[in-house]
Amino acid sequence: MKTLRGTHYISENHPELLTDESSLSGGNCQAAAWPGDLGESAGFLAECTEDRVPVTISGSRTGVAGGAVPMGGAVLSTERLTGIETLVEGGIIRVRAGETLASVEEYCEKMLPGLFYPPDPTETTASIGGTVATDASGASGYRYGSTRNWVNRITMVLNSGRTLEIARRDHIFTGGRLNHPVLGKLVLPVLERKPFTKNAAGLHISPGMDLIDLFIGSEGRLGLIFDADLKLLEKPEATATLAVFCDEEQFWGLRADIMASKMPVRELEAMAPPCLDFLRKHTEPPEFPGGPWVLETCIEVPRGEKLDTVLEALDVLLEARGISPGCTWGGFDDGERQRLKEFRHLLPETVNRLIAGLAAKDPDIHKVATDTAVPPAKLRAYHEYMRSVLEDTGMEYIVFGHCGQGHLHSNLIPLSSRDMAIAEKAVELMARRAVSLGGTVSAEHGTGKLKKPLLELMYSGKELKGMNLLAEHVSRL
Ligand SMILES: Cc1cc2nc3c(=O)[nH]c(=O)nc-3n(C[C@H](O)[C@H](O)[C@H](O)COP(=O)(O)OP(=O)(O)OC[C@H]3O[C@@H](n4cnc5c(N)ncnc54)[C@H](O)[C@@H]3O)c2cc1C
Repeated sequence: MKTLRGTHYISENHPELLTDESSLSGGNCQAAAWPGDLGESAGFLAECTEDRVPVTISGSRTGVAGGAVPMGGAVLSTERLTGIETLVEGGIIRVRAGETLASVEEYCEKMLPGLFYPPDPTETTASIGGTVATDASGASGYRYGSTRNWVNRITMVLNSGRTLEIARRDHIFTGGRLNHPVLGKLVLPVLERKPFTKNAAGLHISPGMDLIDLFIGSEGRLGLIFDADLKLLEKPEATATLAVFCDEEQFWGLRADIMASKMPVRELEAMAPPCLDFLRKHTEPPEFPGGPWVLETCIEVPRGEKLDTVLEALDVLLEARGISPGCTWGGFDDGERQRLKEFRHLLPETVNRLIAGLAAKDPDIHKVATDTAVPPAKLRAYHEYMRSVLEDTGMEYIVFGHCGQGHLHSNLIPLSSRDMAIAEKAVELMARRAVSLGGTVSAEHGTGKLKKPLLELMYSGKELKGMNLLAEHVSRL
């Protein structure tokens, strides 16, 4: 196993281990290891635990909440934990933590054509371990939910080095309690409120939940997710992807129409103003056929049905809102769909690139963004609030994301330490408002290091203490 020691040596030779896509600075560690199998992973974790050295698990470091950034201790990189095998031809694969979403997609195309892995958390270089650890979700979450819905079994390596297989449905909590042969007595904290939205803030807690769901989304707090059995799904006959460039009324109207329709909608995404101006300023996009709002949707064509039927239904909706077909981009084959996906991906990529450049000059600067979600029916009112808070900062910003799930990300571009303070205050205000509307402070990116203070807006001291006690109990085993 490749292992390196020495804080200075690691920062000189492996600076990539010390930050992630959040550009959070200050990362450091005294040791780093790249285990290649279960035994090496367990050995390194056990050794660190014996020496009382905390370990940060590092996947592909595409995380935007600073979770993989070590603040001392050691790093376990999952880079060498690779391998994919088919368990069930009909659609279950076992994937080691270090494989990426892109490699899973490639594997399915080659080995299991006709099947696909539904969660699509945008950044295809993310590791499978990282996506399970953060319970990532993306555009297709509208139809398929988050990663946890697609994980059947995991192998966990606890901090002591003990390994544990956890299969779905093997261990279910009753009334928030579970007695497990290895984990002992587990008691879930009682949560006073649960957001009426997707949620990735803190540990996943629900009184009658499956044990596997405690580990999915645990962000490395409960040990290493070594591998995961992922469920695949049969591809639909076809998909129709459409980006509609429209005005604000048309945007909200069309969003409501699509949500109310009976079509199998896979994705419902938004780019709010000033996203298009932001892209014009910082990238070289093609000319947009309208705007300033963009609604993107992907509709599945069920097996045995025709693409034309879906296109006709979409045409009716567009016409009713006075949107001409000339104000749309369509994607009906793989190439066009990919181009639309890249167009959407350009926004977070460009923000992260700008922030990385600013952070290189000023270590106080890092990504400042919201990952808040509110019940979908309250999104329009919440967006209005977001817009006023963001305008008040006087900074450049964008708002985009998963509008079908009440989940719009805002990203600010702070240019100085003073801007950072203003931007962080704005994030706090938006998080407070999301919670008051029945939402969450983190819907998909997890808590990491950057979102930790926001947990207090959502959970009481008692609830957070309960989560910490649970995590401490598991990490001591
Ligand atoms: C351009 C861009 C777009 C993005 N879009 C989305 C999106 O749409 N939806 C979304 O959910 N996320 C999105 N992300 C964030 C990111 O891709 C996800 O959070 C992803 O799941 C992180 O995977 P990773 O391998 O990079 O994990 P890392 O960043 O390396 O780690 C993330 C956290 O998981 C822990 N961890 C990693 N691997 C393991 C493991 N094997 N066992 C235990 N703990 C582990 C780490 O300690 C850390 O706390 C985006 C990121 C970028 C850069």
